[in-house]
Amino acid sequence: MLEIIENPTSASDWCKNQRAQGHCIGFVPTMGTLHAGHQSLIERSIGENDVTCVSIFVNPLQFNDSNDFETYPRNLESDYKILEKLGCDMVFCGTNHDMFPESCGLDDIEILDPGPHASGLEGDYRPGHLEGVCTVVDRLFRFVGDCRAYFGQKDYQQLLVVQHLAKILGYPQIVPCETVRQSSGLAYSSRNRLLSGREETAATNIYRALTAAKSLWNTGVRDSQKLCATMKSILAESSMTVEYAVLRDPDNWQRPSQKDGLDRAIALIAVKIGEVRLIDNLRLDHGI
Ligand code: AMP
Repeated sequence: MLEIIENPTSASDWCKNQRAQGHCIGFVPTMGTLHAGHQSLIERSIGENDVTCVSIFVNPLQFNDSNDFETYPRNLESDYKILEKLGCDMVFCGTNHDMFPESCGLDDIEILDPGPHASGLEGDYRPGHLEGVCTVVDRLFRFVGDCRAYFGQKDYQQLLVVQHLAKILGYPQIVPCETVRQSSGLAYSSRNRLLSGREETAATNIYRALTAAKSLWNTGVRDSQKLCATMKSILAESSMTVEYAVLRDPDNWQRPSQKDGLDRAIALIAVKIGEVRLIDNLRLDHGI
C-alpha cells in the first residue's frame, strides 16, 4: 500500500521508523510524470531494498527558464497509480513551502555550491540549474537519511554533482542506473511528451549521433574533433539547435586535449527542438 506524504517531518519520521525496524531504504528522487526510465530506477530500488521511497517535486530552483518550468508536465494522480502498481512503499511530494519553509520566495533560499563537476555544458547552458539540483537534493537526502539513492546516467553531469554531494555528506550510497530508451533509441524523458510527431522523429537523431561516435570509437578512432564532427553532421540532418555535442572524461570531467591519447570518453549532446530541450549521452569506452 502506497503511503502519500507531503510533510517533510512526517517523511523523515517514516524513514527513521523503517530504519528502526532494520529496513534498508531505497530512494528515487524524481520530478514526476513517471516514464519507463523512472520506472526502471524504482524497480531496481524495490529489488535491492526492503522499502522504497520516491520523491516527486518539480524543483523551481533548477529551472533557469520560466517557460520551461511552467510547461513542465505534471501528473501526480497518474504517478500515484504507477507507484502503487510497481509496489513502491512511500511517495514524498512536498510543496515549495514544505521544501523551503524558511523562505518567503525563491530568492532568499541559500543555494549550495554544486562542486567541480558543474563547470561547462549544463553549467554553461543552464546557469543556476545544477546549483538548484544540488540545493534540493541535499534537502531530500537530509529528510530521507541513510539509504541507497538511485540516479539515472541519462543526466550524467547531475549524477557527478550528486555523487560529489553524497561524498561531502557521507551518505547516501549513490547507485547509477542505465539510460532506458524507446525502440527508436530516443531516451525516455518527461519532456518527450511535449514533442510533435515530426519533432520526435528528429529527436531520434540524438541517439544516432551518439552511436555513430561509438562505432567510430570501436574502430579505433580517438580523435575527439573527428568524433564530435560526426555527431554534429548527423544532428544537422534535421531541424534542431545544437547546444553541444562534445566529449568529456567520464571520471574527472576534463575535456580531451590530445588527438590520440583518449583511453576513456563519454559523448554528451544537448539540443533544442522547437521549445523542447533534450539531453543524452553515451559512454564510448563501455559495452559494444
Ligand atoms: P527527472 O524526473 O527528470 O528529474 O528524473 C528523475 C531521475 O530519473 C533522474 O535520476 C534521471 O536521471 C532519471 N531518468 C530520467 N530519464 C531516464 C531514462 N530515460 N533512463 C534512466 N533514468 C532516467
